[in-house]
Amino acid sequence: MKTSQRFMDIVCCEHSPGMRCEFCGRIHFGVDDEEYDELSEKQDKEPDKYIGHHDENGIAWGYIDGKIYVWNCPCDLAYRYEQWIWNNRNLICEYLKRRTKEALKQAEADAEMVEETINAPESSRRIIVS
Ligand SMILES: [Zn+2]
Repeated sequence: MKTSQRFMDIVCCEHSPGMRCEFCGRIHFGVDDEEYDELSEKQDKEPDKYIGHHDENGIAWGYIDGKIYVWNCPCDLAYRYEQWIWNNRNLICEYLKRRTKEALKQAEADAEMVEETINAPESSRRIIVS
């Protein structure tokens, strides 16, 4: 299988003249890369390491799990993440629901405390240290 266009569009929101995929080490470059000619020569010698995007100005990329993933990289490691998210969607949704609910409850308590502090007479204001 292959990473879906949908997932790559969501992940790869950054653009640069060239970029290295941190999952596999491949160097991707477009025609606007300052080293385009040099990289094209390297691609002739090592076509699996240097990936020229000869009809594109820039390279789309983004972060997955803190590492740079380049759009449509042959390593296709985004597929593993996409499948993990989809296969665990019920667990992920339940976790997000509970965590968001807890965060909202805490934010409301914080807002109430701030409101009470602002509206209290100056002589009775507490100094809150945490
Ligand atoms: Zn890669």
